[in-house]
Amino acid sequence: MGKHTEKSIITDIQDKKYVSEWVIDYPSGLHARPSSVWTECAKQLGASIQVRHQQNVAFAENMVELLQLGLKNGDVVILSTDQSAEKLEAFKQMIASLSLKEQNDAEHVRIQRKKSKKLGWKPPELSEIAILHGVSASPGFAIGQSYHLTRYCPVVPDIPMDSKQSSIILSAAIQAAKEHLQKLIKQTENRLGKHNAEIFKAHLLLLEDVELTNIANQYIMDGHGVAWSWLQSIEFHVKRLLLSNNTALAERTADLRDIGNSVLGYIDPSLKRNTLGDLPEGNWILTATDLSPSETVLLDPDKVKGLVTIFGGPTSHTAILARTLGIPAIVAAGEAVAHVENGSTMIIDGDGATIYVNPSKTNLLSATEWIKAQEHKHKLEEAQRQQPAKTLDGHIIKVVANVNRPEQIPFAMTQGAEGVGLMRTEFLFLESTHIPSEDEQALIYQAMIEQLDGLPLTIRALDIGGDKNVEHLHLPYEDNPFLGVRGARLLLRRMDLLLPQLKALYRAAKLGQQLSIMFPMITSVTEFLTLKSYCEGVRQSLNAPVIPIGIMIEVPSAAIMADIFAEHVDFFSIGTNDLTQYTLAIDRQNPELAAEADSLHPAVLRLIQKTITGAKLYDKPVGVCGSLAGDPLGAMILTGLGIDELSMTPRDIATVKAELRAHSLIDMQKLANLALAQDCAVDVRALVENI
Ligand code: PEP
Ligand code: MG
Repeated sequence: MGKHTEKSIITDIQDKKYVSEWVIDYPSGLHARPSSVWTECAKQLGASIQVRHQQNVAFAENMVELLQLGLKNGDVVILSTDQSAEKLEAFKQMIASLSLKEQNDAEHVRIQRKKSKKLGWKPPELSEIAILHGVSASPGFAIGQSYHLTRYCPVVPDIPMDSKQSSIILSAAIQAAKEHLQKLIKQTENRLGKHNAEIFKAHLLLLEDVELTNIANQYIMDGHGVAWSWLQSIEFHVKRLLLSNNTALAERTADLRDIGNSVLGYIDPSLKRNTLGDLPEGNWILTATDLSPSETVLLDPDKVKGLVTIFGGPTSHTAILARTLGIPAIVAAGEAVAHVENGSTMIIDGDGATIYVNPSKTNLLSATEWIKAQEHKHKLEEAQRQQPAKTLDGHIIKVVANVNRPEQIPFAMTQGAEGVGLMRTEFLFLESTHIPSEDEQALIYQAMIEQLDGLPLTIRALDIGGDKNVEHLHLPYEDNPFLGVRGARLLLRRMDLLLPQLKALYRAAKLGQQLSIMFPMITSVTEFLTLKSYCEGVRQSLNAPVIPIGIMIEVPSAAIMADIFAEHVDFFSIGTNDLTQYTLAIDRQNPELAAEADSLHPAVLRLIQKTITGAKLYDKPVGVCGSLAGDPLGAMILTGLGIDELSMTPRDIATVKAELRAHSLIDMQKLANLALAQDCAVDVRALVENI
């Protein structure tokens, strides 16, 4: 937080002013995004707040003036108003509340840059190129001509009409916008799948929000025009989101403005914003202030090779859609993007969040060759993905896939999976409207075994709770579901869930003994021993074969006690997603903390090391099935730590196998030892430069 360098608020008797000092503690200074929030806040408070830096003065309600102060991290500013101490205090609280986000964003950028240092392209003629930075929203590397989407932002006039007629026009426009959304949903489902269409289903819900119509109707009743009233209502809600100090919510403003503009266009076609429909043929790097989800989803990857926005955030729907479309994207790149001349050559590095403008011939040639080399490398990786992950010194790591349904297995196998290391059975429950019966489950587990044709399969018992809630299970409300009755804890309380699942699993085991069962969220040996005794009871009652029973290491207590567990379990599988969440006390769903929730944090790595050491006492295998297994650097460090098996999303297999094949176990052990000795995840990631 920014520091108050003297008494928080003082009254200057002579000027009758309330004055306070503030030290800017935004690592990137007062750039466009925070300054827009300062301006909005001053306007919202109805306060005229003067911001003085040395000899320069600006009024907070004027964003351009604020930006012109060019405030940098560490600059001291004097804030003053002659209105009230409360308003000044409220303003200061708001600007202080932005500090953490600014610092997190800067950290995110720092991590991205470190990541890209070794992996990304570097211009050979550094002095011959302009470089801009933003936040990575979608990976990939692209070269193209800049095309700045200048918005035709019509001024919305306030033309009062009969209030009844206005309300009718408004409802008809909302209805038309809804119908348009229905079409967009269908189009998106066909093009990008159901999951991506959810974004527009959420837009439909937003449009149905009575608050939006109520506020617009209030303005109409007060004698204002219909379009103007609707816009006020949208902007009122946008401001509320921006001031909520919740990044996830703030990034939803693009969604709100998207539906707002759509309705405006139906109220009055002359208020329709220009769209990307007339983008000419070419290889464009599209630059824009921000892009709405409905614009992004219609982007044509044949024409749009990359995307750069001045504002926006990496968790926005726009970013998600760019990732799905496979278009490299960088967001929050700042105002400088708007000053890039249209048609300039741009090189964008989505992984490194770096934009290169006007490269020299040599730089351009080097970037083009780099792309070719990357494509070649990728093809080689793909060609060799069926080969085992054998290190240069002959050590073999088993690489398996995380797969939830039998029909996903053929794809996983084409990607080079040597079996399934994690089948998350909760998806059977999440995707159904009822509790799947023993018979239904048995059929699915048997189909998994058949599809795998002798390859190993590890099925995880139901892991419900936390972020995965299933309505038809009627679980009681919990204040902290991630710390509540989740995973094994739930199974031990709900025999109606545990026993049918165990019966289905042992019925499947009769078909193929390559099956293993593992239990999630284990925290104590007693829990495991109880679950194991249920397994044995079911097995005997069905006269089924003995199969391996293991546990997931997702909670620090289990990692610390691994040497004790090792006597009782047949194997360990480390869930780094949860292990990171519970070790670092970071909710894995909190976008604000996403950059900090890095599984390469040395504390997480030390717990993994402890698990391996414990397991080795009884010669028990240890796998990793959390996301860290699919991260190339993570996979190398895990291998160096002594992991036997890595289980990941099928798409990550080719790259991870190639990475492991390119190094020796000894080098990866050295890397792992270095990683354990670092201070933080950023420094662990920086080790990529030593490889
Ligand atoms: C994990 O926690 O790492 C894991 C694999 O389980 P899930 O992501 O399903 O919680
Ligand atoms: Mg987990």
